[in-house]
Amino acid sequence: MSETETRGVVIEGTGGVWQVHTANGETHDATLRGRLKQDNAPKLVVGDDVGIERADPGGAWAICEIHPRRSQLARREPGGRGGERVVVANIDQVIVVFAFVKPEPHPRMIDRFLVIAEANDVAARLVMNKCELVDEKTAREFAKPFEMAGYPVHFTSVKAAVGLSTLREGLDGRVSALSGPSGVGKSSLLNAVYPGSGLRVGDISESVNKGRHTTVGAKLLPLPGGGYVADTPGLREVGLWGIVPTEVDACFPEFKPFLGECKFQDCTHDHEPGCAVLAAVARNVVSAERHASYLKLRAELTTGTENWR
Ligand code: GDP
Ligand code: ZN
Repeated sequence: MSETETRGVVIEGTGGVWQVHTANGETHDATLRGRLKQDNAPKLVVGDDVGIERADPGGAWAICEIHPRRSQLARREPGGRGGERVVVANIDQVIVVFAFVKPEPHPRMIDRFLVIAEANDVAARLVMNKCELVDEKTAREFAKPFEMAGYPVHFTSVKAAVGLSTLREGLDGRVSALSGPSGVGKSSLLNAVYPGSGLRVGDISESVNKGRHTTVGAKLLPLPGGGYVADTPGLREVGLWGIVPTEVDACFPEFKPFLGECKFQDCTHDHEPGCAVLAAVARNVVSAERHASYLKLRAELTTGTENWR
């Protein structure tokens, strides 16, 4: 690192100019050094951890180094093998936000988000908002399959100020992709957790581009307590593209202890005799709902019909 080099995170990129947010809270416009534009160099994306420098004080900033990535959310090309397009780099966790009611949550849609996180090796947690509108028993029952799978589940209410400090602990200092349908309370939650911040995040529907390969462009919002949230979640964009049907079982973490135990090595965990996953479902060790989601996602990937409901 040269004496003048500063480290930062790329929070936005528009037309060859990148906004780099530094540890001391400054944001600088920077362009990419020529040698980093070469074909063999990694393509810079939002979330990348970079070094920036300038030739003289007051001069223009340039990105001179791209540090190795901790993680990435990438859209693999349909048909497998070959390319992938990184949507956002260095995401520490996917936070899937739904509401208990208004709008009604779709567990299969929650599973889809969780599978995308698993397929990208990114940790995930579930936030169930508007918890003041349901009784505790209903809430616990809803959360159970996800907890059995090992995911942290937060019950929150902006209205009744429930679960906000725990959520803040989960967000501070990390880079989170906050995802969920419109109206569940994502923006309300961020503003309740960080009052006065004016943070707003997009919905999965806003990042749809009808299957086209154009990037909507993720953007990271710096959080007051350190860390970032991605405002365009990018998860729908990443989708399940390129995940092969035989890999779907590994995207259900609670299946993992059983995956080597089935009688047939190519077991689809659907109907086969001697299937250890089906046996775990029968013993209630694996939730029947999650298993049904698995079958549905696997079928979608086999027939190539991705369906968000
Ligand atoms: P977003 O689209 O996910 O960002 O959702 P918003 O933050 O815009 O919230 C959608 C609606 O839900 C707004 O009318 C909020 O006031 C309401 N809302 C948010 N959190 C809660 C909550 O905990 N309980 C209730 N009852 N309503 C909430
Ligand atoms: Zn099996």
